[in-house]
Amino acid sequence: SSVSRDKATQEIPAYGCQRRTPLHHHNKEITDALEILALSASFQGSEARFLGFTRASSVLKSLPFRLQSVEEVKDLPWCGGHSQTVIQEILEDGVCREVETVKNSEHFQSMKALTSIFGVGIRTADKWYRDGVRSLSDLNNLGGKLTAEQKAGLLHYTDLQQSVTREEAGTVEQLIKGALQSFVPDVRVTMTGGFRRGKQEGHDVDFLITHPDEEALNGLLRKAVAWLDGKGSVLYYHVRARSQNFSGSNTMDGHETCYSIIALPNVCPEKPSPDAEKIEPDLDKNSLRNWKAVRVDLVVCPYSEYFYALLGWTGSKHFERELRRFSLHVKKMSLNSHGLFDIQKKCHHPATSEEEIFAHLGLPYVPPSERNA
Ligand code: ATP
Ligand code: MN
Ligand code: MN
Repeated sequence: SSVSRDKATQEIPAYGCQRRTPLHHHNKEITDALEILALSASFQGSEARFLGFTRASSVLKSLPFRLQSVEEVKDLPWCGGHSQTVIQEILEDGVCREVETVKNSEHFQSMKALTSIFGVGIRTADKWYRDGVRSLSDLNNLGGKLTAEQKAGLLHYTDLQQSVTREEAGTVEQLIKGALQSFVPDVRVTMTGGFRRGKQEGHDVDFLITHPDEEALNGLLRKAVAWLDGKGSVLYYHVRARSQNFSGSNTMDGHETCYSIIALPNVCPEKPSPDAEKIEPDLDKNSLRNWKAVRVDLVVCPYSEYFYALLGWTGSKHFERELRRFSLHVKKMSLNSHGLFDIQKKCHHPATSEEEIFAHLGLPYVPPSERNA
């Protein structure tokens, strides 16, 4: 009924971490449109507009019904003037003019293509755009100016553009666990990121690694990656050392992290027939290979920080941003992947579960599958 729908919209809280946001929801056409505008704003360097559209989209993802009229968003947080125009046009015409214009613009298309390369952020893509780069092929002329990460990103571009399936993520998990366990048999390895939130596919696979004995973790990441490399399974890797002087105000966490590209053996390798080249003359060596390049992130944390790191690396990115904003503004506490610090009482809050962290913050517990904010 419209009365219960009104009640539902009045009860939606303002912070993404105060709501339950499932993977699948009822207003995908609208949230897709708002996310295009958010992305476009971020490409233009407008953090405020990016956050505005992202928050509006996130609120609608938590709505328990399909919108029928723009009137229904009047009591919703963050769904102000500009977002309402988008919502109204989508509801009435199925498309939004501004979104179509953005999608067709050269700047948006180029920025989207360039930032989809591993190792290329908005700032780099924007600099290239201003230098006249419009597409991936233009990058060949830049050759020497690319970082090792970007070169690897371009080399494996086609594979990395394809999403990683849950099944492939499981194979990666076996590979990573095998490498780590060959050094520390009882090491704890947890798949985090989108797959922990229940996604069926992802742009990479994320893992969190810990052990009660901190000595056991010393040098483990580098040894395990070198071991995999020796087996020919590593296409690229970069280990970022743990930062000792990590400060709570920093947004990047300070855990030892490995950003890598792994050669994943095909679950069911297609054996090329001897006639393959006759049937398909263009078939090159690449299409006969029995592996696929997959992005993998590995994070090592001390046991005492495990549940903070788990919460921090499970995402979604917007859920994390909202958790930290809520902590700081509402609770006067500083939250990151290492811990929770009460700024007024000047004390840290240790935690032995994710539930305990939500309790420290006075928030109802949100399970991973409902953190798709
Ligand atoms: P996808 O399926 O696209 O991979 P995802 O939610 O797994 O989705 P990731 O980019 O892999 O997205 O990030 C996973 C989580 O790890 C995010 O919630 C993000 O907050 C966290 N994260 C990523 N990079 C860092 C970093 N350098 N420091 C701290 N946290 C990070
Ligand atoms: Mn991920
Ligand atoms: Mn990741």
